[in-house]
Amino acid sequence: MEAWFVSSASEALAVKTEPTTYWTFFCNPRRWQIDDFLRSHRDEDDYRVIDWQATWFAPGQLGVVRVGVDTRTRGQLAGRRRLEPGIYAIVQVVDSPKLRPNSTDPYWLEAPPEGGEHLAVDIRYIKNLLDRPLLLESLKSDLAVTDRFLLDGFQGASMPLDPGTFHRILDLSGTEPHAFDAEPGDSLADLERRYAGASPEVKEVVSRHIERGPVAAKVKEATGYRCQVCLALGQNPFSFRKRDGEPYVEAHHVTFVSRLEPGSLGPSNIITVCADHHRQLHYGIVELAKDTAEEFVFVIDGVALRVPKISHIADTA
Ligand SMILES: [Zn+2]
Ligand SMILES: [Zn+2]
Repeated sequence: MEAWFVSSASEALAVKTEPTTYWTFFCNPRRWQIDDFLRSHRDEDDYRVIDWQATWFAPGQLGVVRVGVDTRTRGQLAGRRRLEPGIYAIVQVVDSPKLRPNSTDPYWLEAPPEGGEHLAVDIRYIKNLLDRPLLLESLKSDLAVTDRFLLDGFQGASMPLDPGTFHRILDLSGTEPHAFDAEPGDSLADLERRYAGASPEVKEVVSRHIERGPVAAKVKEATGYRCQVCLALGQNPFSFRKRDGEPYVEAHHVTFVSRLEPGSLGPSNIITVCADHHRQLHYGIVELAKDTAEEFVFVIDGVALRVPKISHIADTA
């Protein structure tokens, strides 16, 4: 396989670069014909990983596939349209990097030598932009797009991508939030391990799965379907009754989104809240002041509120 870059330059970059959980994957259609791949409706492929970035990849990270100048000859294009430089897909990393035999898929124009091995991750294409790529030409004049590697290119397979740039591209691409996916785990601890390094959007997806699942149902039962914030404020903790007679209440993971630590998906990190207070916890002026074995202490609009943890409620019930 060709050398991607001179190693001293790469070492200098390695020192300066920080992982962000987002990636730009650089694609050269003269080597690997992404247009044919995107037309094939396959949605998974592996992507080569640079050694010094290998430990930064984790399942559930998000990224974009960037195509630079399409230097295929007319013969190689064989009637196909030359790709304009731009973003051609939104992708999600599926696993951690592993050594694999060099790929021999039919999209290679300059296939890597057969029999060799390289470090690669599986990626899932969650948005195919072949028919309406986000052209670099217009991204260059977008003030929210600041990532230099994405704009100027890079002689390598991947680079961490600036979060603000990723979010702007995500908006422009029209990717629906339900495109992000989390595989069900055998246990909450499995999920926590698997998605510990994921992008925040994918952690949200995992969190929402749990908030609608059996673990959350048990917590709701234990808190008596009451809003624990209303309760702490001395207000009526019940919302409306649902058609099945159960009072409506929502489950919320207190520390999930900022850090996916062991235990963070479990019941001791879930509280039940009314729809209003749930929104307020996400978007309001809220600080988690204390997190002990027995309780959370929130400061909401300057008022400290003690919310007992489910384990404590169950113990004292
Ligand atoms: Zn409430
Ligand atoms: Zn929530």
